[in-house]
Amino acid sequence: MIKLMTPGPTQVRENVRLSRSMETTNPDLDVDFYNDYHALCKQIGDMLHTKNLVYIMSGEGILGLEASCASITEPGDKVLVLDNGIFGKGFGDFVSIYGGIPVYYSDSYEHEINVERLASFLESHHDFKYATLVHCDTPSGVLNEIDKICPLLHNYGIMTVVDAVSSMFGEPIDVDKSKIDILCGASQKVISAPPGLTFLTVSKSTLHCMENRTTPIASFYANILNFKDYYKKKWFPYTMPISDIYGLQTAIENIKKDKKIYQRHKKIASCVRNAVISSGLELYIKSGYSSTVTVIKVPDVLNCCDILTILKEKYHILIAGGFDILENKVIRIGHMGENCNIDDVAETLDALSRTFELLHYPLEKNLKTSFITSLESYEESYVDTL
Ligand SMILES: *Cc1c(COP(=O)(O)O)cnc(C)c1O
Repeated sequence: MIKLMTPGPTQVRENVRLSRSMETTNPDLDVDFYNDYHALCKQIGDMLHTKNLVYIMSGEGILGLEASCASITEPGDKVLVLDNGIFGKGFGDFVSIYGGIPVYYSDSYEHEINVERLASFLESHHDFKYATLVHCDTPSGVLNEIDKICPLLHNYGIMTVVDAVSSMFGEPIDVDKSKIDILCGASQKVISAPPGLTFLTVSKSTLHCMENRTTPIASFYANILNFKDYYKKKWFPYTMPISDIYGLQTAIENIKKDKKIYQRHKKIASCVRNAVISSGLELYIKSGYSSTVTVIKVPDVLNCCDILTILKEKYHILIAGGFDILENKVIRIGHMGENCNIDDVAETLDALSRTFELLHYPLEKNLKTSFITSLESYEESYVDTL
């Protein structure tokens, strides 16, 4: 058995797996299923503090990002793409595919977006239909302040599409207070269900904008409007993956019952970072640390693949490397959702220390030991808002 410690997909609890094996009905024809789906959407909305509409779509997280761009973008629309990470930049591709013109606002990949600098840019550049941004850009682990950035964009009448796939329920999010028009999540990160579902919270004004387009939405599967009247009409645009949704229901209940979820993510992340620093290794980013993933630089003399291979073959633990511009440069520990527990994180850090030793790169301090010491002296200063 391999222990999954990647920043998604994450470990899946047994009750979620069992829910996926329940007997199924015909989700197109059975009204009970519409009620279950509707209640689950409402539950997700409540936990994100929003009265906006919530839709669960069949497809991995990427579908949510693409569907947002597909449904809003009309040919020639100018879209502000906030780029301080690989996912942030990648949003521009979806904008282009649907005929929009991405305007990249790029900031350092080693820090969260500097809000003051963005504010002064917006003073003279604000002619955008919408903006895209990422809450936690998972490849680097940087966390952007969506609670400051989205209201700022909203003041200029710029709609916001936020990728919160790897932060949702690991970092507090208040959609309505932050004036987020579309927030995208997915099943396989903190939520800890298998990959396959994406969900979106959509503001009424954004739906209104989609309905008043002059050109049709150039997609069927990625067309958010197709979901708009599903409950009234008892009609889904395509047959819903019922077993995935049963699994999601249980995963969401698990989160709902977990009263210290944000607190635990924050504490474990902070202690992992302390351990990395005391070991003499280096964190990839310099500020704006997410509580869901820690990204560590691979020392120049080592090879990323060797580290990952030893961890997997000898210690049966899977963590992630980097991709795109971070390929071979970093390793990433996903301490999110079911992965976010002291035992699994401690075991991973211990195995990682031993791996470095095997590669003749002994660390200044054992990662697990510093992690435990750091947990003992950690001062709780946090109230959960789920
Ligand atoms: C995981 C993730 C997605 C989904 O993308 P995949 O590469 O298919 O896993 C989208 N955005 C963010 C920020 C993610 O972490």
